[in-house]
Amino acid sequence: MERFVGQNIRYEYMRVAIIGAGISGLSIAKRLSEKNNGLVIDVYEASAKSGGRISSFDWRLKNKSVFSCDNGQHFTIGAYTDFIELLDKCDALKYWTRHSFEWNMLRLHGDDLHDLLQFKIKKLTLFNKTLVPYIKFVKTPTKLFFLKFYFSLFLLKNKFFHKHSLNCLYRKFFFSNASINLFWKAFVESSMNTEFENSDVSTLSFLVNECVKDIPTSLEILIPETDYYSCAIKPIEKNLQQNGINFHFNSVVERIHPEKKIKCRGILSHSYDTIFLAVPGHIAAKIWKRSKYPATKESILWENQKYRHILNMWVVLPSAKAENNSNKKEESFLWNPIEFKGSFYVVVIQKKSKQPNIMSIIRSACNDINLSEEEENLYEFAQKLLNKQYSVDLKHLDYKLIRAKRATIACTHDQCKRSTIWSGTRTGIKDIYKCSDEASFNYPSTIEGAVRSGYLAAENIKRFD
Ligand SMILES: Cc1cc2nc3c(=O)[nH]c(=O)nc-3n(C[C@H](O)[C@H](O)[C@H](O)COP(=O)(O)OP(=O)(O)OC[C@H]3O[C@@H](n4cnc5c(N)ncnc54)[C@H](O)[C@@H]3O)c2cc1C
Repeated sequence: MERFVGQNIRYEYMRVAIIGAGISGLSIAKRLSEKNNGLVIDVYEASAKSGGRISSFDWRLKNKSVFSCDNGQHFTIGAYTDFIELLDKCDALKYWTRHSFEWNMLRLHGDDLHDLLQFKIKKLTLFNKTLVPYIKFVKTPTKLFFLKFYFSLFLLKNKFFHKHSLNCLYRKFFFSNASINLFWKAFVESSMNTEFENSDVSTLSFLVNECVKDIPTSLEILIPETDYYSCAIKPIEKNLQQNGINFHFNSVVERIHPEKKIKCRGILSHSYDTIFLAVPGHIAAKIWKRSKYPATKESILWENQKYRHILNMWVVLPSAKAENNSNKKEESFLWNPIEFKGSFYVVVIQKKSKQPNIMSIIRSACNDINLSEEEENLYEFAQKLLNKQYSVDLKHLDYKLIRAKRATIACTHDQCKRSTIWSGTRTGIKDIYKCSDEASFNYPSTIEGAVRSGYLAAENIKRFD
């Protein structure tokens, strides 16, 4: 804390350092800057730009055109109220459009593509506050599926059966394999980035509760005009810079010294009053060790967190042909989970005015053991799908496979006590706090979880309110 006493004016500064300019670091900076009360805030970011896992790259196509593409496909739903509010505060919401949600489950078997289940979230009538899909058609299994679907949502909303793993709960009480595969497997794997067989019921229950709070708005999908970096990160960073936040890019923080100085690029900073580690647990654990801080219950947890990877293939579609396929209606967003060899691939086609038509094929919840096999299967799936739907060979198109290692932490059932998954914002050392997507209790590791954790971490500075 520095004090300057002038003739009649007394200035008081509190120096704050934020390590990491991912969406959680930006969220703390935003919340603290709103307090406007004598905080001097420095953000140290290892890479050349903000955003962290929300990133983009310039994609040069075979025809030499270049456009900005998300590093991996991200989805934002209406239930992400804090993230949406952050966009709004930074005048970025104007770059986003809302689309109602449409589910179209397909199965790619041999050379045939079958529709199994299709519905659109429309209104709220049954079970008072439970999802009611507008069912277009359900070919298989039976109409009983929806009855079981409502019943399981009802149970999840009311937090029953939390001692069971999701897999065990479902197989024991409600569903046949076919009906699990129709909805829950794809939903759980893509929203929790954890394989269905190992997923935790209480996390799913929390998520379902968030999703049904304000149906249908909470399940609308928000889509950026171009990419997440340009339509979210850049405007937030600009807003923060206008509010006096200092960004230090290409600044990998090596360690924190006992008097709360930060060592970066071999240089030691001045002392800070408060430091926020806005990095995922595995990075926080490394900085902690290098700083020679004693192990705390939080730092042990960071070390033991389990991660899952996401594979994302971007494919540029031949433009004329894309029109005949998914996302036919402008106002709705078509979510296509496709089952192939027992795994789920979420396929989305984006038609944006400033970009070519691109398809993303996402394989979530990959673990270390099967990553290379998953990659081979993804290639095979992409080949077959493109052949089937567009009669083209992958090798004739522009495409990119992105491996997002440690994309998020896994919400596994064996870590079911909340204290063994989410770390919270304390670190065990006074005036050093932590945030990131795994620091928000109960929320699966997501953009919304990261923003919430940033806001929560900022609340630790009470003195300047
Ligand atoms: C491919 C992919 C798809 C995803 N899809 C979705 C989705 O559909 N919906 C959703 O809600 N979430 C999704 N997520 C998760 C979401 O991206 C993350 O939850 C969120 O971005 C995490 O933000 P964060 O600030 O907590 O961490 P990060 O984004 O990891 O930010 C940490 C920052 O710290 C910096 N840093 C690291 N080490 C240091 C150091 N030593 N010194 C200084 N800086 C450092 C990093 O460069 C980074 O900028 C996805 C993630 C990936 C990878």
